[in-house]
Amino acid sequence: MENGELAGLPRRLRRNRLTRRDVLWLFGAGVAAGSLAGCATSPVTGERILVGMSEEEERQVDRQVAPHQFSQDMGPVQDEAVNRYVAGLGDRMDDLTQRPNMPYSYRVLNANYINAYTFPGGAMGVTRGIMTELDSEAELAALLGHEMGHVNARHAAQRQGQQMLAQAAVAGLTIAAVATDSSWGGLAAVGGEIGASALLASYSRDNEREADALGQDYMVKAGYPASGMTQLHGLLVREAKETPSLLETMFSTHPMSGERVANAQRLAETRHAASLKANPKRERYMDSTASLRRLKPAIDACKSGEAAMARKQLPQAQGDFARALAVAPRDYPSNLLMARCLVAQGRQKDALRYADAARSIYPQEAQAHKLTGVLQLAERNPGAAVQSFEQFDRLLPGDPGIAFLKGVSYEGAGNQRAAAESYARFLRSGGQGKPAEYSMSRLKAWGYAR
Ligand SMILES: [Zn+2]
Repeated sequence: MENGELAGLPRRLRRNRLTRRDVLWLFGAGVAAGSLAGCATSPVTGERILVGMSEEEERQVDRQVAPHQFSQDMGPVQDEAVNRYVAGLGDRMDDLTQRPNMPYSYRVLNANYINAYTFPGGAMGVTRGIMTELDSEAELAALLGHEMGHVNARHAAQRQGQQMLAQAAVAGLTIAAVATDSSWGGLAAVGGEIGASALLASYSRDNEREADALGQDYMVKAGYPASGMTQLHGLLVREAKETPSLLETMFSTHPMSGERVANAQRLAETRHAASLKANPKRERYMDSTASLRRLKPAIDACKSGEAAMARKQLPQAQGDFARALAVAPRDYPSNLLMARCLVAQGRQKDALRYADAARSIYPQEAQAHKLTGVLQLAERNPGAAVQSFEQFDRLLPGDPGIAFLKGVSYEGAGNQRAAAESYARFLRSGGQGKPAEYSMSRLKAWGYAR
């Protein structure tokens, strides 16, 4: 995308509809700018010493960064009972850790891929994609225990120290890749920029080993059989084998699954042998997640659709999302994904219908407001787009990418002054890349900058 081409964007906005490329660019620009600049304003990045984070900084990362990642994973599921169930188990277990006073919090996320992660202060997310694969409460305890292991061993703080060393070489670049856990699912890559996040980085193998061992300690203390950890890893290995299309991604980020099964089994049979008689609470898991598991056909269809989108097989992806919607017409992720799939095919009007549906289904979740805003821009309705972006800002403050999108909307509406203010705000908050070039080109053209 060349600057010359970009310069015509708002004119096209006023005269005719934006092209598919414009819409994709706007949407992508917002996402990327948001991820980067959200971090750039974090106090964690500014005055960093090279040896990690203080506890207060760990807590701050959770407060400032975690909400953005959770929203990229389409927010917590709108199933209070399921969220309460997972949080209840987490609350019981985190009292048994070495850092019981960290601000742990738990939610099941709307993402369909198989993953779980934690931020350094203990803000954790478990995807609905993995929840519907687990077989017992003991496996869920193993999953949460492993994440608690990262928090307690302060792996993120260690990684942060290493990140800073690497960054010191790259002057002026403040991408704080906060180390969180993407070790469960190499499947994060499915869905392109939507599933995978600039906010997530992976831990080292040693970190993973240590988190597994700690997690197993915690789950045993909480009264579960240590074999739950073995089964959890076995499940992930099986999943990779049953989904050959995902094999490559899975093994590139998750190469030690076989080794982790063996380690967990060895510890279960030695250190934790006494725990093996404990009840894995299979029935309780099944009862507590029944409502979520009823959605499994829709979740699987979404998973398949996201994989198809990553392969650029858009009609096939659309078919998958249609299947998901046939099972669960009021499913927020299915509507949002269908909208994104239609955007990718240049069908902006149809996409807007689904984005609009998504936002009425789950008005508290920010992503649908952003996508709706971009599509309203495409449909020559910049005034409505401003409203959508403002709503996004209220729900999820601290994403400067939104300032850029507001700038484009104001410019489209012919409000040059408000547009200039938004572009300037975007640049001040550390906006980078093409959106920054574009913002600067407008400020120059209007005489606000030289
Ligand atoms: Zn991990």
